[in-house]
Amino acid sequence: MFEKILVANRGEIAVRVIRTCKRMGIRTVAVYSEVDFRSAYVQAADAVCFIGAARAEESFLDKKKIVSAALTNQCDAIHPGYGFLSENAEFAQMVLDAGIAFIGPPVQAIATLGDKIASKALAIRAGVPTVPGHNEPLGDAKEALAIAERIGFPLLLKPAAGGGGRGMRIVERKEDFLSALAACREETRKGFGDERIFAERYIVRPRHIEIQLMADRHGNVIHLGERECSIQRRYQKVIEETPSPAVDESLRAEMGAVACALAREVGYTNAGTVEFILDPEKNFYFLEMNTRLQVEHPITEQVTSLDLVELQIRVAAGEPLPLKQEDVTRKGWAVEARICAEDPSRGFLPTTGMITRYALPRGKNVRVDSGIDAGSLITIYYDSLLAKVAAWGADREAARKTLVRALNGYHIEGLTTNVDFVNAVLNQPAFIAGDLSTNFIEEHFHEGESNAKPAVENLHYMAMAAVLVYHMRQNLVRESLKPMSPLIGAAADRPTQHDYTVRTTDDIVFDVQLRDDGDEEQSGQQGNDPEKDAERERWPHHLTIRVDGRPYTVIAPRFEYYRRRLKLKINGVSHMFRLQYMEDHIRVCFCGIVRIYEIYSPREWRTTRYMLRERRVVQENVLKCPMPGLVTAVWVQEGAEVRRGQELLRMESMKMESGIASPRDGQVDKILVKPGHAVETDEVLLTFHT
Ligand code: ADP
Repeated sequence: MFEKILVANRGEIAVRVIRTCKRMGIRTVAVYSEVDFRSAYVQAADAVCFIGAARAEESFLDKKKIVSAALTNQCDAIHPGYGFLSENAEFAQMVLDAGIAFIGPPVQAIATLGDKIASKALAIRAGVPTVPGHNEPLGDAKEALAIAERIGFPLLLKPAAGGGGRGMRIVERKEDFLSALAACREETRKGFGDERIFAERYIVRPRHIEIQLMADRHGNVIHLGERECSIQRRYQKVIEETPSPAVDESLRAEMGAVACALAREVGYTNAGTVEFILDPEKNFYFLEMNTRLQVEHPITEQVTSLDLVELQIRVAAGEPLPLKQEDVTRKGWAVEARICAEDPSRGFLPTTGMITRYALPRGKNVRVDSGIDAGSLITIYYDSLLAKVAAWGADREAARKTLVRALNGYHIEGLTTNVDFVNAVLNQPAFIAGDLSTNFIEEHFHEGESNAKPAVENLHYMAMAAVLVYHMRQNLVRESLKPMSPLIGAAADRPTQHDYTVRTTDDIVFDVQLRDDGDEEQSGQQGNDPEKDAERERWPHHLTIRVDGRPYTVIAPRFEYYRRRLKLKINGVSHMFRLQYMEDHIRVCFCGIVRIYEIYSPREWRTTRYMLRERRVVQENVLKCPMPGLVTAVWVQEGAEVRRGQELLRMESMKMESGIASPRDGQVDKILVKPGHAVETDEVLLTFHT
């Protein structure tokens, strides 16, 4: 077995790999760049090695630096994690040439499967069903158009060297084909340094289903069942689950067998994932094979009770797999959500900043893989994935509910994340029904907001949480004033009923009536059962709360001022709320619903201001930067006439390229940035003549 492993990655996956190494008694070396020096994974490793500047090209993508870090630290193996160099055949070869083991598949397999055209050809040879299309690089316009007509519309243009959903383009109509092809070529050349594009039929409303494989060097190839990853934005996964509600035992066996056949055909070893799309008639088609550990591997671990990183390490060390296909057991259901630094209301553009407050969700059957903590700096240089929260349950609904509860208590302050967005997806009726497709987010969300009305009950719960916080704060103030003025708040005349009115920013008004049913201590019920006493100590406030007349029994814990998370037992079930205090207002997050409340008690009604809604001021003569990132290209010059919607610049942030469009027709006055400049949100990029 290896003695020391270098983890050629960062963030949550580095933490994850180090965890298994520790358990196996293997020492670890973490590599870090300028911005990572105090990250959680750096703290977790036995030894650390600085590899350079923040830009990935100068650190995590610098093959030579990483190999020499491994040599200097006497590592006998490298685990690449995912992303960065994990699917880079040249890197894997360099590692082997240096006499170090690569924890991944053979170089040849990485090379063949990394090319979409070559891997599709391989799949066809192995008898795996593929999406109908033309599996050769498209040639000149005339020939390409003839091929497109043969495939039929809508079709999908795909870069052969693509990955991470980049560069793919749907073409709905024949008239749009040639311009789409030209644009796709341009993007592919720039993004991947490779012009090859192929075309296949666009499958409408498919599900994304993938099979997890493990193979050793002794000819054993097994599959660990499927994961469904249909919930995607920009062709990238955000929620994954296993099993899939669409896959039964026989389909699982069939897809598993086909995936194993493909792995055998290419002489595969170690962990890998064969991705398919499943059409509404349950025909499945091969998409690609990923030659590494997947981001979403925790859910497979939860249902199989296996440690995939351990299996990877054992296989790379030459050991046979400890189990055969018939030994693989799967129990229950697991669902995972990816928590990313991104803003769903702004087209999922990446966000950056420092995490100022941080509280992890906890609980039975909840697993959090995270690389962040309070004080972590989220920069433009790396992927936006911050953490993954996965929940296990005996069945799908149990797992889903556990995940929802965990996300209700996941508090990240300091930058915008998608935590409430993914929670809203999990609470969407179509998600609960298992009616999924890769179009799910487009169909059910608009600008990050669910099209479905939130459940009235949830809104009531949130109104109660907001009122309770307000009420308890009032009580505290009253208590603190008591010694100063004998007139205030004498216990005897403390009213037991309080009426409040709650108004949200979207103008929903609730009447909330709160009746204090008395502390357990006060009602003299303290007995001699220490367990019960401890319970009462934690949950001393018993109340009846009516929201618009509907009564709820509520038990609240001992309350501290300015608490960020509030747990309430409502009608016997406990719920977690996330709170944020703003001047005069309370922001409450629950089940993906976010509302800002203003609370009045009747006496104050007349004096309280109405809350003004935030207004978006559009400044007409400037182009402001919508996200932090690096400018990669400026397409126009000063003095150029431009049209509204025309792409003026390109930017890169967190591995994603986006075009920045002109907000208006007009003439460019000053250009304030150049390619290579790092820019912040709202920084002025260029100005227009007025
Ligand atoms: P990448 O390697 O860039 O991630 P994939 O081939 O794995 O690209 O596809 C990513 C996603 O794109 C899939 O999960 C699916 O949502 C969508 N997709 C790919 N091919 C098709 C197709 N032929 N029809 C419909 N959707 C597709």
